[in-house]
Amino acid sequence: MTEKKYVLAIDQGTTSSRAIIFDHSGQIVSVGQYEHEQIFPRAGWVEHNPAEIWDNVREAVATALSKAQTNRDEIAAVGITNQRETTVVWDKNTGEPVYNAIVWQDTRTDKIVKELAGDEGAEKYKEICGLPLATYFAGPKVKWILDNVEGAKEKAEAGDLLFGTTDTWVLWNMTGGTEGGVHITDVTNASRTMLMDLKTLDWDENIASDMGIPMSMLPEIKSSSEVYGKGRRQGLLTDVPIAGILGDQQAATFGQACFEVGMAKNTYGTGNFMLMNTGTDIVHSENGLLTTVCYKIGDNDAIYALEGSIAVTGSLIQWLRDNLGIITSAPEVEELAKTVEDNGGAYFVPAFSGLFAPYWKSDARGALVGLTRYVNKGHIARAALEATAFQTREVQEAMAQDSDVELTELKVDGGMIENELLMQFQADILGVDVVRPKIAETTALGAAYAAGIAVGFWEGEQDVIDNWAEDRRWSPKMDEDEAERTYRLWKKAVTKTFDWVD
Ligand code: ADP
Repeated sequence: MTEKKYVLAIDQGTTSSRAIIFDHSGQIVSVGQYEHEQIFPRAGWVEHNPAEIWDNVREAVATALSKAQTNRDEIAAVGITNQRETTVVWDKNTGEPVYNAIVWQDTRTDKIVKELAGDEGAEKYKEICGLPLATYFAGPKVKWILDNVEGAKEKAEAGDLLFGTTDTWVLWNMTGGTEGGVHITDVTNASRTMLMDLKTLDWDENIASDMGIPMSMLPEIKSSSEVYGKGRRQGLLTDVPIAGILGDQQAATFGQACFEVGMAKNTYGTGNFMLMNTGTDIVHSENGLLTTVCYKIGDNDAIYALEGSIAVTGSLIQWLRDNLGIITSAPEVEELAKTVEDNGGAYFVPAFSGLFAPYWKSDARGALVGLTRYVNKGHIARAALEATAFQTREVQEAMAQDSDVELTELKVDGGMIENELLMQFQADILGVDVVRPKIAETTALGAAYAAGIAVGFWEGEQDVIDNWAEDRRWSPKMDEDEAERTYRLWKKAVTKTFDWVD
């Protein structure tokens, strides 16, 4: 038998799908990556084509294998990590989605969410599932599809439709689709649907029934690290065990080796997500954070996390590029921001999908305030980058209040951490060191570890700790009074976005 040298991770993200091959020391051997279309049919709506995503995943796997000059014989296991909450509903007999994937940023469920809340309010299900009623989560998106796609409700009731987040969609297809594909998700993804009970780690039939979702649509919930199935006959990964699934943010927490209570990481991608490990305790937030499953390794107890989710950070940079055209690539924002000394008084609150943590206001919309004739595009670029750092400080304050743990440093990852101006400003605004690891692809790495641990390629969490290494550290430099002054102005700017939608 050929020696197994690698683990392959599939990172099905919001903007692209990647396949990354890792060796035993956690180093990247090769990467395949393909972007998919962002579909905006109306204001506030965001969709992806699930068929395009599945095609891209296959292409990415083919590219990664070919670049590494390897094949399935050397791959010990596959791990999947994914954009969370994004909802796919498909016909199990044909494998065809009944509608495009509704993306986590999409706000079309705002009415559904208000109706579900009724007199009891947005926190109606929070004790059970850890989440407030908001457009962000998957359950109400499934309800929207069943209510709005012709014939979907009847088919769902007849047991013909399946629901999944994109982990489940990819896994079902990878394991054979209509020919024996397994319909499974893991506890971390399930914890983002509003349909899972955090204590029992099983679906809550009452919530599903309130949302009109038949139980037959829901995938089986498994741990984050066990063999779910094997690669299908026709594919490049035939018989390779698929053995790890973690939602992207949980995967990054795992890949950053945040295994002790109080350890936290912040990921700077399309949005920003700070997760703090709370161990086996389910800590309910009083300050606008979510309670979520962090990971569960095989039969071990589930580990939980507090999470601060910010909808728009990196996607604001994309917006500067695509909608305003003031930059031609995301990294250029740093050069543009460096043409000025400071934000010139401008504050940009990117409430494009309402505001997530710690506000949870679906009816907020974006605002650029503090403008004078003095402000130029350099100031706007800077204000856009600063928005990421200010939003992160708001989440950090909420974490400190909920957990009584004061952060001493923050581990970071994601596409935006290449931006040094942002990282320095982040350290200034938080008042703590910001630390970047050597392997910045911690999301894919986390999923790889979960899969590798399940098949014995790695022994356990100690391997993750041993392989983690620091690359760079930014320490606060800004005068503290100045940091407080600018943060105070940010807080004022945020209030200008409230109650915008009629
Ligand atoms: P995701 O996993 O959510 O798809 P990534 O972690 O790949 O996202 O990060 C991509 C995001 O980071 C994009 O929104 C992009 O605008 C932003 N980004 C990438 N490079 C930079 C940079 N140098 N400065 C600022 N933002 C950046």
